[in-house]
Amino acid sequence: MTIEHHKVVSIHYKVVDAASGETIDSSEGAEPLTYLHGAQNIIPGLEKALEGKQVGDEFEVTVEAADAYGEYEEDRVQKVPREAFTGVDEIEPGMAFTAQTEQGPVNLVVVEVEETTVTVDANHVLAGKALKFSVKVETIRDASEEELEHNHAHGPGGHQH
Ligand code: ZN
Repeated sequence: MTIEHHKVVSIHYKVVDAASGETIDSSEGAEPLTYLHGAQNIIPGLEKALEGKQVGDEFEVTVEAADAYGEYEEDRVQKVPREAFTGVDEIEPGMAFTAQTEQGPVNLVVVEVEETTVTVDANHVLAGKALKFSVKVETIRDASEEELEHNHAHGPGGHQH
């Protein structure tokens, strides 16, 4: 069986910052990651690299920022009024928030705190970074009707519900 649209795939992986070599995440010592192929459950560049692979295949792939978590966009850094942070006593750089917007929840990190405004960054923490993945394909199976309906994989390493 090869990896193609609507297969449920389990992989062990390690991902490092391609520029610094710093480890970002790894499934070592944990369940493999299980995802539904073709459902955009994982970043596009990694999904593309997995297409056509078979159980036992091991490979490395460097995914550019545009095919990972996107380019870093300056206009996603904005000043918002301090009043927007109701119920928060202490606002400090580095704090992470989830803001409810018309487009849905957005994760923000506080960059700078001034007297009346707070500068927040809505870029993904990995935006602008090329990522290097080391991947081993563990299992491949057909997706169930329910998984296709939910657009994600169920079971160990996937969604538990
Ligand atoms: Zn589900």
